[in-house]
Formats: sequence, C-alpha cells, structure tokens
Amino acid sequence: RSVVTAASSSPAVVTAATDVPGTMKAWAYEEYGDASVLKLDEAVSVPAVGEDQVLVRVAAAALNPVDSKRRMGKFKATDSPLPVSPGYDMAGVVVKVGSQVKNLKEGDEVYGHISEKVLEGPKQFGSLAEYTAVEEKLVALKPKSIDFAQAAGLPLAIETAHEGLERAGFSAGKSILVLGGAGGVGTLVIQLAKQVYGASKVAATASTPKLELLKSLGADVAIDYTKENFEDMPEKYDVVFDAVGQGEKAVKVVKEGGSVVVLTGAVAPPGFRFVVTSDGSVLAKLNPYLESGKVKPVVDPKGPFPFSQVVEAFSYLETGRATGKVVISPV
Ligand code: NDP
Repeated sequence: RSVVTAASSSPAVVTAATDVPGTMKAWAYEEYGDASVLKLDEAVSVPAVGEDQVLVRVAAAALNPVDSKRRMGKFKATDSPLPVSPGYDMAGVVVKVGSQVKNLKEGDEVYGHISEKVLEGPKQFGSLAEYTAVEEKLVALKPKSIDFAQAAGLPLAIETAHEGLERAGFSAGKSILVLGGAGGVGTLVIQLAKQVYGASKVAATASTPKLELLKSLGADVAIDYTKENFEDMPEKYDVVFDAVGQGEKAVKVVKEGGSVVVLTGAVAPPGFRFVVTSDGSVLAKLNPYLESGKVKPVVDPKGPFPFSQVVEAFSYLETGRATGKVVISPV
C-alpha cells in the first residue's frame, strides 16, 4: 500500500513514500592516510535531511583526486571532523525531500557534486555510501540518455571544466591548449571548449595510447608528451588549461593578454588557480549537450568498480593514469 500522503497539514512536514532504513553501508576512515585506512562500515546512520536538502539513494559514485588529497590530510585545517565518509560525486534517486525543497520530488533521478565547497567544510558523510543528503541547489535531474554510472562521473569534473573556462573568459573563436586531456577534467574541457563554447582550435596533451581518445573528443591537435615538449612548440593559445600541475611551463605558450587556468601545483603570472564551487545550475545548463550526446561522459574502461572495491578503485586513480572517470557502480 502506498504511504504517500497529501501535504494537507503542515507544509513543513517531510513526506517519505520510500522506506529508508536507519543505517546503511558506507566507506569511512577514522584517521588520515593511504587507501588502506578506508573501511566498509555496515552500520552508519543514514544522514538526516536538512530543510533545503534531498536524501538520495546513491546508485553510482565517482572518485576524484581531491578525495585522495583530503584522505591524506592535506586539508586538515578546514576539513570536517573524522570519521569521514568520503566522496563528492554521485547519481541516484531522491527518496526524501526537506520541507523547503521546491523543484525535486521522490523518485527523481538526480546527480551532483554534494559539497558546495570542496576544501572548506566538505560534508562529513559523502557519496561513497548507500544514502547521501545534499542541498537541492547542488544537484540536477540526470540526463535521460546517460545511465547512473556515466552521470556519477560528471559533476565535479564538468563543473571544474566549466568554471575554469568561464573564469578564463573563454568564448567562440578562441584557441585552447588542455594539459592532461585524457583525465577526468581534461576530457570535459576538450569537449566543452569545442562543442559548447565553439573553440577555433583545441590542442591537448596525453601519452601515446591516449592520443586517439583526445581526437575522438574533439581535439584538433593531440600532443604526445612522451615525444614532444609543448612549451618548446611555436604555437601560442588564447587559453591554456592546466589539469596536470605544469603552471610554470603553461605560461610559455599563452598569447599576450591570454589566460592560464591552473588546477593544481605552482602558478606563475598570468596564471591563476581556483577551487571549484558545486552548482547544480551548471549541470542543468549543460543538460542539452549531454542529452544530445554532443558532450559525452568518459568512464575509465577498468571500471565501473563495484561498491566492494572502493580501495582498489582509489589505488588505481592514485596511479595518475586513469582515463576519464573512475566510477563506482552499483552502490
Ligand atoms: P585524473 O586523475 O583524472 O588525471 C589523470 C590523467 O592525467 C591521465 O589520463 C594522465 O594521462 C594525465 N596526465 C598525467 N600526467 C600528465 C602529463 N604530464 N601530461 C599530460 N597528461 C598527463 O585527474 P583529474 O582530471 O580529475 O584532476 C586533475 C588535477 O586537477 C588533480 O590534481 C586534481 O586534484 C585537480 N583538480 C582541481 C580542482 C580545483 O577545483 N582546483 C578540481 C578538479 C581537479 P597519461 O596516462 O597519458 O599520462
């Protein structure tokens, strides 16, 4: 029998049609360290849902290098208290909505990056869990044409790609060099620059086996960094997007007056670094490109990893050799 009730009494009442258990399985660590500190906890409390939040039954999650850096204790000063259940990216189904939630309802298929700020007070209970609570404004409806595993890999990386291009003032007719074109962020910078912004020319770097992938994503020029030094090549670009940590070399190939976006490592002028802010409206804005297949999620072919193999998945991500996104599915 359905337990859905019309919200006839108080509008502040949280309605729950789906039975949500009190505890769940979640990956967690009680101390900082390498991937071995991660333990699968079978009885973590399902997070409470704030009035502006939805509770999501996670179907798939994805890993980001920032999960590893956080677990190593690099952001201790601004991190949430231990124990931490990690994970920023997820896709799943809404099973509960807070009283102030306006546009989402139970049963909606959503995806998103669950911590508005990645480094400052990220959520203690993240997406590597059966359930996660997230503000409505940080998620969007999942594009129908992609599955949960594909969707889970997108949010943090595509929001980073988008925010970097915006901050660089990227626009139609401009050229761009993407350093680290085969990674989680780079695969999306190439596609957004070409398909969404209308770049005149996209160049990107990777090692030999990944050059064809760069081309298939829309790169006009694929530079093999094992054979050529991009910084010694004559071509200059309006924007250089560094997803590797080569900020000092990157500035050598930017045109005068151009921009250099740096995600990690050293920055030299005119380069700038930023830290991504989660924003569901960016996902909603890009939805038509994902729906039509103009922008494609790239899921690393070693995955998706099942929920039981999160430690193996992190160890793989931490080799620095992943292609596109390391995805955990099913959760
Ligand atoms: P990934 O782990 O997905 O990147 C792996 C890719 O990097 C591999 O495909 C590898 O290709 C490529 N790569 C490694 N070294 C080189 C090199 N010298 N030249 C070209 N490609 C190289 O990482 P992400 O894309 O998710 O993130 C990239 C970096 O950006 C990380 O340090 C991450 O923490 C940071 N980041 C920062 C954000 C911010 O807000 N500031 C947000 C998101 C990410 P190959 O095997 O061919 O070497």
